[in-house]
Amino acid sequence: MEREAESRNFIEQIIDKDIAEGSVTAICTRFPPEPNGYLHIGHAKSILLNSGLARQYGGKFNLRFDDTNPTKEKVEFVESIKEDVKWLGADWEDRLFFASDYFEEMYETAVKLIQKGKAYVSDLTADEIRAYRGTLTEPGKEDPAANRSVEENLKLFEEMKEGKYKDGEKVLRARIDMASPNMNMRDPVIYRVAHMSHHNTGDAWCIYPMYDFAHPIEDAIEGVTHSICTLEFEDHRPLYDWVVREAEYENPPKQIEFAKLYLTNVVTGKRYIKRLVEEKIVDGWDDPRLVSIAALRRRGFTPESIQKFVDLCGISKSNSSVDYAMLEYCIREDLKLKRARVMAVLDPIKLIIDNYPEGQTEELTIVNNMENESLGTHTVPFCRELYIDREDFMEAPPRKYFRMFPGNEVRLMQAYFVTCNSYVKDEEGKVTEIHCTYDPASKGGNSPDGRKVKGTIHWAPAPYAKRAEVRLYENIVDEELGVYNEDGSLNLNPNSLTVLKNCYIEPYAADAKAYDSFQFVRQGYFCVDAKDSTEDMPVFNRIVSLKSSYQLPK
Ligand code: ATP
Ligand code: MG
Repeated sequence: MEREAESRNFIEQIIDKDIAEGSVTAICTRFPPEPNGYLHIGHAKSILLNSGLARQYGGKFNLRFDDTNPTKEKVEFVESIKEDVKWLGADWEDRLFFASDYFEEMYETAVKLIQKGKAYVSDLTADEIRAYRGTLTEPGKEDPAANRSVEENLKLFEEMKEGKYKDGEKVLRARIDMASPNMNMRDPVIYRVAHMSHHNTGDAWCIYPMYDFAHPIEDAIEGVTHSICTLEFEDHRPLYDWVVREAEYENPPKQIEFAKLYLTNVVTGKRYIKRLVEEKIVDGWDDPRLVSIAALRRRGFTPESIQKFVDLCGISKSNSSVDYAMLEYCIREDLKLKRARVMAVLDPIKLIIDNYPEGQTEELTIVNNMENESLGTHTVPFCRELYIDREDFMEAPPRKYFRMFPGNEVRLMQAYFVTCNSYVKDEEGKVTEIHCTYDPASKGGNSPDGRKVKGTIHWAPAPYAKRAEVRLYENIVDEELGVYNEDGSLNLNPNSLTVLKNCYIEPYAADAKAYDSFQFVRQGYFCVDAKDSTEDMPVFNRIVSLKSSYQLPK
């Protein structure tokens, strides 16, 4: 392997050891989403970790829908999850699986456990089971049905399957240890009765396996070698091991836990996002203010930037949160050398060059990316009437203001030196038009005689610029006050979305397609919105501003 042993993360070290000892020859990992919502940045970490390990070790990566719970699952989510996993670059090839395809084998495994005296049908209600389970300090009480004969258990379980019992009337429990210090081992329920239709198996089943029983079997059936999950399952590992052992799988998979990824100041919980969607605070699961993978894609993040972010976060055994600014750092770094720089005026004022011939247009050449020559150049038309940004003009500037004001000479980016002569205001006192003269000898923005100008401002040619909508984002929750109010409501930031409907962009960016992105001079990186952009009115999402005070953690 390419890296030194000590710099390898703890999961790689486990795999290295398994390979060295010969207990594993080829590895197989999986990403097992429950199709009950959209994937978010945390899932991206799991996807890239699992698919990355498979690639690194020349192994296999499975995409498996963990669809054993018919209450919450929706087919709609299956498609969105596939799209997201594919977009991230995790390739499952032909290894797409559905846990519900294993219902028959899971049933047979349960029968096998009964035959071995390792499972029994219980008549207790859910509340009774909870009460019998005991506490961390007291052992549990034996289920009155724990000593049923194998024959009786087989008959009752068969009847459960045949639909003889109502929901909750009977359950199948694993027979392990009611006194175990690990509560998960106190005869956990492994099958329940649920008269519900399943999106894949329809009404074929009215009993469904519980997660802790189903998951290890799914892994074992697929030949998964390393079943990587998050830390909250650490206490479930003894049960995982018990299931694969008692089911007598030949090459049992191994569960390994790592810490979940948490981001500060963003909403990741499914139920909170659902609320934002239902209350129409956001415009869907892919609203660019969210951190679902669909939202990040729509905002203009790239798979490479997310990979970089996940790599920087590293893999650990202890929970911690990562600053959202680190994700912004990663997208900035990724786009820096990849995207063309264009001029966009977000809050326009008309600039008229009085001494520029009416009806004349010239094509000026602009370098696409100063740091990456290979991106080439493009042209922009220059003419008598332009737009500049309102913030680049002041009637009565303070000291050290070097942009446009009456009497001052500035450089129009890549074009000419211009000197402001006068301006026009409307009845409300708002500046509507600025007049200036240009120096034809300063073409290209170069000084003809060594005289210096301190300000350079961007512009767009009025008759040729494309009108566009620009959306600026801030965090959806207030950073200072935290995500949730004391009463559990969301602490929303009223400025999380700013819509600018009268922006002008250079013709070069006018025909951009959904997901295309650019650097807008001085404003940041912007991406064409895939949902609302039209040919007449392109919509650009600000992915990230250009600068930040963020420092990578050491
Ligand atoms: P959530 O409740 O946040 O939507 P979940 O755990 O219910 O997440 P699943 O579909 O069950 O979602 O998860 C699929 C896989 O993604 C699991 O292996 C889970 O451990 C992993 N995963 C979920 N959230 C994170 C996270 N924040 N960081 C890393 N991995 C995660
Ligand atoms: Mg879940």
